[in-house]
Amino acid sequence: MFNKEELNFKKELNLLIDKFLPENWQKYPDERLDYDWELSQKIKKELAKNKWIAPSWPKKYGGLDQGISSSIILSETFAYRMSPGNDRFGVRMIGPTLLKYGSDYQKEKYLKEITNGDVQWCQGYSEPNSGSDLASISTKGEYDEENDTITINGTKVWTTLGHRADRMFILVRTLPDSSRHKGLSLVIIDMKDPGIKVNPIKNISGSSSFNEVVLSNVKTSGKNVVGKLHEGWMVALDLLNFERSGIDYIGWAERCLDDIEEYCNEKKILSRDDIKINIASLRSSLESAKIMTYKALWIKTIDEKIHMEPSMSKLLATEINIKIHDFAFDILSKKVTINTSNQDEFAKRIFKNRLFFISGGILGGTTEIQKNIIAQRGLGLPK
Ligand SMILES: Cc1cc2nc3c(=O)[nH]c(=O)nc-3n(C[C@H](O)[C@H](O)[C@H](O)COP(=O)(O)OP(=O)(O)OC[C@H]3O[C@@H](n4cnc5c(N)ncnc54)[C@H](O)[C@@H]3O)c2cc1C
Repeated sequence: MFNKEELNFKKELNLLIDKFLPENWQKYPDERLDYDWELSQKIKKELAKNKWIAPSWPKKYGGLDQGISSSIILSETFAYRMSPGNDRFGVRMIGPTLLKYGSDYQKEKYLKEITNGDVQWCQGYSEPNSGSDLASISTKGEYDEENDTITINGTKVWTTLGHRADRMFILVRTLPDSSRHKGLSLVIIDMKDPGIKVNPIKNISGSSSFNEVVLSNVKTSGKNVVGKLHEGWMVALDLLNFERSGIDYIGWAERCLDDIEEYCNEKKILSRDDIKINIASLRSSLESAKIMTYKALWIKTIDEKIHMEPSMSKLLATEINIKIHDFAFDILSKKVTINTSNQDEFAKRIFKNRLFFISGGILGGTTEIQKNIIAQRGLGLPK
């Protein structure tokens, strides 16, 4: 599927990760923890030296003008190795959105910051009363024409890495009396603004990678509106379309399947019919989800429309990832104990990841919402 040069790139990425990742690294990266966060910053800086943070972007913004395969390899390799350092918010979400809709000022400033490995971004979409129904958001962005500034007031929630971020792309209502998707704008803000308060939220697996972000009179310049003022809805949807590829889930799922297969081999149970059949069936579903994920990433590079493939790939990849972790969990279940301090490292990882990956069917739009998109926008079925 990949050519010699691309496979060589994969090899070099693995060597780079080997240099930084401690031996026997057995966990999904949790950038809330200082150690994982610092490791992620070091790896990003090393990637930046080679212009590998976003190799498919134009050279003038710090990329290498390579095809989408290089980005696929990068994300898949980082996920497979469970390594921190792959910048999802900058490279996968706001970057391609700015390349498509951004002004020259925004491209020059923000894309270069991303490819230098200098900044962390976060996403300000969801609110306490608006998740799946994103068009109902109420955070206000008051536009002052005379000074060309926007003043933002409201609360965002589930903001992943909000506590680490330098910048946020945020969806706000800039036309005060507008309803639904009219009168919204996608705006860039500085997370160091004194009007921002970030409150951590703990999740079921015990970490708190996401937050509530309260915004009181936060100011930003009109130069930071992405696309047109009051017409941010389609820009925001397209950003979600960039976000929704299942590529990380494919890497995590494949790693889990390879590791559990090796474990079964070591324990001499790989020849059992039930285990062989399950592994073969999971591997074939994983391969088809992987191909859909590649298609979803590629199709965004050949035309401008918002497609259903990213929704299909997110759906397939998050589901197969859960199925593979369930299979591994079944095999390891006797090794899982409530007291995690004396737990086998591999069993602990599978247990924690299984809990965390429940979120795959929620974040970036729930499974039900992806099915609605595929049915209605993709296949033209009635509501
Ligand atoms: C780990 C994690 C990280 C996240 N990170 C971010 C982030 O960085 N930034 C950000 O802005 N948000 C983030 N989110 C929030 C995420 O986008 C929302 O949780 C998601 O969009 C769902 O919204 P909700 O939680 O309000 O659920 P709701 O919208 O209240 O949905 C509840 C249930 O109803 C179902 N439902 C709702 N509407 C429909 C419908 N029309 N048809 C069928 N079923 C429907 C949903 O599928 C779901 O099962 C994150 C979430 C998680 C879990």
